Amino acid sequence: MKRTVKIKLSINDRKALEETIKQFKKACQMTVEEGWNENGLNNYKKYKLQKRVYDEIRETTDLQANLVVRAIARGAQAVKGCTQLLENGFKASKPNFTSDSIAYDKRTLSVYLDEKRCTISTVNGRIDANFVLPEERNDYYKEYLDDSWEITQSTIEKHEYEKENSFYLHLGLEKENEEIEHEDPTVMGVDLGMNNLAVTSTGKFFKGNQLDHNRKRFEEMRGKLQQKGTRSAHLTIQRMSERENRYACDTLHCISKELVEEAERNDVDIITFENLKYIRERMPKNKWYHVWAFNKLYQYVEYKAKERGIQVKQIDPRNTSRRCSKCGHTEKNNRNGNKFKCKQCGYELDADYNAAKNIGIKLLHRRQKSSAGAGNGQLALKSGTLKLNGEYSPTFLSARLCLRYFGIQKEF
Ligand SMILES: [Zn+2]
Repeated sequence: MKRTVKIKLSINDRKALEETIKQFKKACQMTVEEGWNENGLNNYKKYKLQKRVYDEIRETTDLQANLVVRAIARGAQAVKGCTQLLENGFKASKPNFTSDSIAYDKRTLSVYLDEKRCTISTVNGRIDANFVLPEERNDYYKEYLDDSWEITQSTIEKHEYEKENSFYLHLGLEKENEEIEHEDPTVMGVDLGMNNLAVTSTGKFFKGNQLDHNRKRFEEMRGKLQQKGTRSAHLTIQRMSERENRYACDTLHCISKELVEEAERNDVDIITFENLKYIRERMPKNKWYHVWAFNKLYQYVEYKAKERGIQVKQIDPRNTSRRCSKCGHTEKNNRNGNKFKCKQCGYELDADYNAAKNIGIKLLHRRQKSSAGAGNGQLALKSGTLKLNGEYSPTFLSARLCLRYFGIQKEF
């Protein structure tokens, strides 16, 4: 889990810090000048830029090596952001570093959380700074000023709108989430597939149409360009492929975010997917793109879920698409394309939705077996939860109803 905590600083040598920030901004700008050209593209690779500007920055500033590297990284990032905008048809002008902000890492900033102070690398050597913590927010800071956190990258910013220009530390903190073994977890199953990119046991469908559409268009264009076989065609393919990749990643990011929000809304403790290894096996070779997308989606969900204290697990998916999620009857003929109709109890629903429920149920079964019958837990459904013994608890006043009750219209 990652956090950024904003802390006001009381500094003994303000001049030194001000001068350092000034030179840092200059170094960022020098990087941009080097990386920026009118047609802009592909000039933002950090290591390439570093090679070209590092010496010059060292010679013309008093910044120490680690700060120079951080400035180059920031400059390169800014060029990259603009280049991506331009590539996607948006307008962007050359980045200009005007705000008073400087990036620090472990080597240039030493933080003593328990002593509520830090030392900061400047052009005038190390300077001391004490934390100025508002008393009324004591509890808030207490949680973070604790040795269990690891310090990551931070920034220091000068706020001019305050009297006497205050300095603020935006402290980056990180710690491993402790894995809690839930006694009575609520589980959400997720089915990944071709018709729907993802479907949850709570009845949320993620189509992923746009992703497919974009990919198809890209492949057609690539085919045409490949036939040309010229060098410029090759370069165009490369650029298009980067853009396509970025688009796909963005889309999957958004879907993963919604998926985790869906879990949060349903008080889910564990999100369950089928084991991705099996997906790879059952997918035809020409669908490798989907396998890639599933893996990416899974990574994003895992990352975002962890931040919120939700676990993500995988189960062996065998029979999850043939089994009836209502009565358990398992037969190949239950499924017909997108439709699922149980040969035994007649239960009818979308085939992927049925599979999503089974994936959640399977995890509950596995837990029950491994903890010798003590493992309880329930499956999160559209409007309630289901226990393995068939006990169904409807959500008394679901979030959706709640909003409607208060006259708020919101599409979920
Ligand atoms: Zn059935």
